[in-house]
Amino acid sequence: MPRRRREKELVCPKCGSRDVEVVRTWQLVSPFPDKYGRITVTVMGMVECRSCGYRWRATISKLKIGEKGVEVEGRGGKKKVLGGEEKPRRVKEIVLDLEDLEEE
Ligand SMILES: [Zn+2]
Repeated sequence: MPRRRREKELVCPKCGSRDVEVVRTWQLVSPFPDKYGRITVTVMGMVECRSCGYRWRATISKLKIGEKGVEVEGRGGKKKVLGGEEKPRRVKEIVLDLEDLEEE
């Protein structure tokens, strides 16, 4: 019986190797909230294959930030809810950032 993988692994699209490394990450903030009023932050990564040296961009995880805390959507669709009322400040910071962008 094949063992089920818990998470989707990053696989090199060129040579199929799983010997890959995330060399850089950055975040993309969605300019519009979803239907629950949450802001989606996508964590992107630059992934490098140690086998053939190919580099590509992949989604590492997604954060959904709303009134009820932060929902983390990792690879393989695993979801974790962090925080709760303990992190309202972080939400405010992100909302302010978006308002700044709209003024330009
Ligand atoms: Zn490769």
